[in-house]
Amino acid sequence: VSDLGRTGPRSGLRITGAHHLGRTVDVRAVDGVIVALGPDLPEVVGDRVLDARGLALLPGLVNGHTHAAMTLLRSFGDDLHLMPWLEERIWPAEARLTDDDVYWATRLAALEMIRSGTVHFVDMYWHATAVGRAAADAGLRATVSQVLIDGGPRAETPRVDALEASASASLDALSDLGPLVTPSLGPHAVYTVSPRSLERLGRLAEDRRVAVHIHVSETSAEVEDCVAATGLRPPELLDRHGLLGPRTVAAHCCWLDDEELDLLATRGVTAVTNPVSNLKLAAGTFPWERAARAGVAVALGTDGTASNNALDLLADTKVLALVHKAASGDPTVLPAEEAWRTATGAASPLLGGARVEVGAPADLVLVDTDRPEMVPGPLLENLVYAASGSVVDSVVVAGAVVMEHGHVEGAAEVLAEVRARAERIRDGA
Ligand SMILES: [Zn+2]
Repeated sequence: VSDLGRTGPRSGLRITGAHHLGRTVDVRAVDGVIVALGPDLPEVVGDRVLDARGLALLPGLVNGHTHAAMTLLRSFGDDLHLMPWLEERIWPAEARLTDDDVYWATRLAALEMIRSGTVHFVDMYWHATAVGRAAADAGLRATVSQVLIDGGPRAETPRVDALEASASASLDALSDLGPLVTPSLGPHAVYTVSPRSLERLGRLAEDRRVAVHIHVSETSAEVEDCVAATGLRPPELLDRHGLLGPRTVAAHCCWLDDEELDLLATRGVTAVTNPVSNLKLAAGTFPWERAARAGVAVALGTDGTASNNALDLLADTKVLALVHKAASGDPTVLPAEEAWRTATGAASPLLGGARVEVGAPADLVLVDTDRPEMVPGPLLENLVYAASGSVVDSVVVAGAVVMEHGHVEGAAEVLAEVRARAERIRDGA
């Protein structure tokens, strides 16, 4: 369809009567971008209208680290140590997954994230093309990577060429999935990828100018093993192979010393903390205050639903604030506004963080402020300390309404598909 011959302005989305920063405003979005914001905007014939009277307008949340399709393994193998949990429960079940399993499990994750106000998630998983297709079909933004492993630093013959070829093919496939999907590389961790492959993937990331999503220093054992196998701590090893930069998403980062935090800050890495996963697996605690002093960009993630076990990033925002108050013995640490900034990705130049202003992507949530837990009091403090994701009424991603007053298109089909598939995966059939 050509723009030639169009007579009127292009149609878009009009959000009417929302509360924003103490006033009542309308928002107009065209082609996924906010083009007007203010009181009583003139109506445009052909616009879709979202009635937001009584709702608060906010930027959407950004889930900086997850494995969305693990919804199929939700609450599977709880209450185990990290390595037996991975080796005895998760990895054998994952080996049974098909493209379609991953597609529907990611649709379920997208449904849960949309309902709790997430507009963008950063994912690493098997069958990544199916993850990307599911995100695009759900209307959610996603930075998607295929998990890359080759046996790790102790493998005698790591599959270096095959790994690089599959990484490259995955980037190609993910590039075809439309504007909501951003391809990235997902070397799993320093204990599952050999230094030779890390070097290749560092070069590939540079050539293709894509983000690198990797688990870094999640447990103390991981750090000790890395030193024993390579003579280097994980951040040094990654830096040596060009894998620490402004397009790096480093998940967890629980066991970093001050020098390593300085290195992450200097390289412009985004560290993604996953407080609920770290608490559940007793993996460690992100060094919030030391990271802040070093100037590290920090975002918030849920991790997968086998280690959280939900994708409600707003609920995790409260945990983030509470964990670091408790750990520091200081209730003034991580105030609500800082927790909210972290949860919306605003503290990470890479993840961008949605802004409610003309020219910004129309990635917005509308919150029901008539919910009992939202009354009375200031909005941000209530969102962080009183609310969970269930206060979200409507969600807009790239100017498209993906939840309207609690309704998400296709939800029943998604639930049925995942229920039917979960039994086979979990029982080993
Ligand atoms: Zn993870």
